[in-house]
Amino acid sequence: MNHPFRKKWGQNFLVDNNLLKKIVRTINPKSDNSILEIGPGEGALSEKILPIVKEMVGVEIDPLLIEKLKIHDKLKDLIIIKGDVLLYEIDKLPISNPVRVIGNIPYNITTPIIFWLIEQLDYWDDAFLMVQKEVANRLVAQTSTKAYGKLTVVVGAYLDIKSKFIIPPDVFIPKPRVDSAFIHLTKKLKPLIEDKNYITFNKIVSTAFNQRRKMLKNSMKSWDISDQIIQTIDFTRRPETLSIKEFASLIE
Ligand code: SAM
Repeated sequence: MNHPFRKKWGQNFLVDNNLLKKIVRTINPKSDNSILEIGPGEGALSEKILPIVKEMVGVEIDPLLIEKLKIHDKLKDLIIIKGDVLLYEIDKLPISNPVRVIGNIPYNITTPIIFWLIEQLDYWDDAFLMVQKEVANRLVAQTSTKAYGKLTVVVGAYLDIKSKFIIPPDVFIPKPRVDSAFIHLTKKLKPLIEDKNYITFNKIVSTAFNQRRKMLKNSMKSWDISDQIIQTIDFTRRPETLSIKEFASLIE
């Protein structure tokens, strides 16, 4: 690889051909798929998926890598978009939707990317992302575990997430300092929270988990929650014992 690695853009490139094949098998691309790849980099994953699918867009922020992608002989049909993916809306990209989203994404923008997906549920079907193992653990955490928290609940109200496999640092160049996990995101048939309550729900869940060790009756004092809900849920409980559905029921 004869280009600089830009830390600020979370660049860790996949170099293990077996792992790339396993990733493709897991994504299981189909001939009628429209694929949006976040951060194609040098195109290691793109070149394996592009020949199978109907159409594919890659959004890449690094101008040097854009130039490499443009001259890549196996990526002539890849629609390359330059810039920060978070500033794009999926339905404005030159590809039909709903898309399937894939990406070995920069770890520093994992949470923004997941919320970016939640904010445009109509325009994608499923997503496969490479994330830090520790973040994957939080996303799939069960109640009453250390990893269960705000991220689990707020994301879990909209999405179902499965961790497909764990990846050690040595299949990347440069090696990240942590293990990674390849995760699959699908949309709940019916989100547990209506769009109009999205911000309130975020705030309620934050309030509860900001004082994780306190009983809800103490941490939630500033919220006007009906006596009936308080009794049904039992506000002597601590936040990590509430299921995602129970959190959703706090919003009337
Ligand atoms: N997909 C390649 C691979 O697997 O080898 C590269 C993965 S690397 C972890 C992340 C890629 O995302 C880099 O190419 C980086 O330049 C790009 N990137 C970083 N921030 C981005 C953003 N906000 N929008 C689009 N691409 C971004």
